[in-house]
Amino acid sequence: MNRIHGKRAVVLGGAGFIGSHLCERLLADGASEVISLDNFVTGDERNLAALRMNKRFVSLHHDITEPFSFDGPVHYVFNMASPASPIDYAQLPIETLRVGSLGTENGLRLAHHKGAVFLQASTSEIYGDPMVHPQREEYWGNVNPIGPRSCYDEAKRYGEAIVAAYRRAYGVSTRIVRIFNTYGPRMRLNDGRVVPAFVGQALRGEDFTVFGDGSQTRSFCYVSDLIDGIVRLARSDVEEPVNLGNPREQTLLQFAEAVRAAMGGSSHIRFKPLPQNDPQQRQPDITRARTLLGWEPRVRLEDGLRETIAYFRSVAEHPGAYPSHSLSDTGPVM
Ligand code: NAD
Ligand code: UDP
Repeated sequence: MNRIHGKRAVVLGGAGFIGSHLCERLLADGASEVISLDNFVTGDERNLAALRMNKRFVSLHHDITEPFSFDGPVHYVFNMASPASPIDYAQLPIETLRVGSLGTENGLRLAHHKGAVFLQASTSEIYGDPMVHPQREEYWGNVNPIGPRSCYDEAKRYGEAIVAAYRRAYGVSTRIVRIFNTYGPRMRLNDGRVVPAFVGQALRGEDFTVFGDGSQTRSFCYVSDLIDGIVRLARSDVEEPVNLGNPREQTLLQFAEAVRAAMGGSSHIRFKPLPQNDPQQRQPDITRARTLLGWEPRVRLEDGLRETIAYFRSVAEHPGAYPSHSLSDTGPVM
């Protein structure tokens, strides 16, 4: 059953990388109205370019740590709002803690008041530097509570806690998605995450900056796969946390090689110090998503990288006017 058609959805952080793709997908699925609330601290109005003419879309400039409310029904609240790259949250530690705590509760209040489904974007970071591999949802994690990543990790752990508390105390219908490294068009070229970092370096003819010895692992999920999983989760009745990510794990050195192959360049590796508490290995166990949502990623890294590189090329060539790059137009076939 398509439970999005005819429904009104609020997307917190709708001008960000993932949030803007989610807004588009909800509208494509027939939502009666999609309202984005964003303070643009790490998002960009240009991510919403493709939606500007859509009469069912509303973009509001609002910091969600301040209260908000709407007249009329709201059926879904998606909370995507938070700085998400290690560089962003290191520069915005207090803002990150506040949006993860106060902002999440404001979203939950709205969902409670309206009887809406509340979907929380959580993260693989709640597992910290994991002692269990691959990571299953039952694992409670290994997080340094006062380290440089703690403003994000603990905000997200608190976010899950308050979502669970609103479900238990007030019966709010909640969903928690633990997102693993996701990439694609509309990431910021300078957000410091490894995909834009390596692609940007190759575009400029610079060397790849590999932190540590490059033996740490990540598993990269293309954004259209993630959005499909998020929508499936929202439409389901699954209230326990669900990992969404691509289980294809690789070292950072292997990933640098994949970017070099995709771009046909000659970038070399320049090693730089490993940031403190950088997780050594990360791979989602997606058994729960497979079993309960019938979901698994379909886009191959080579195809996702091709789309992402094309996007970054056009951003680098036309810095003032971002291409809208809707996945429905140009994304790899799912
Ligand atoms: P992003 O920075 O592109 O998007 C976050 C959006 O939230 C931005 O538009 C930003 O302006 C907005 N925002 C931040 N604070 C706000 C506030 N106080 N009020 C209103 N808006 C605010 O990041 P993203 O990669 O799209 O991440 C989206 C969500 O997914 C985040 O919650 C992030 O923690 C989660 N996530 C992302 C990944 C990933 O690989 N991209 C992995 C795990 C979790
Ligand atoms: N990384 C790197 N070079 C860069 C940026 C990141 O080697 O220029 C590494 C980083 O140390 C981490 C991995 O790439 O091990 C993924 O980093 P990212 O910031 O994309 O996301 P994280 O998974 O750490 O949240």
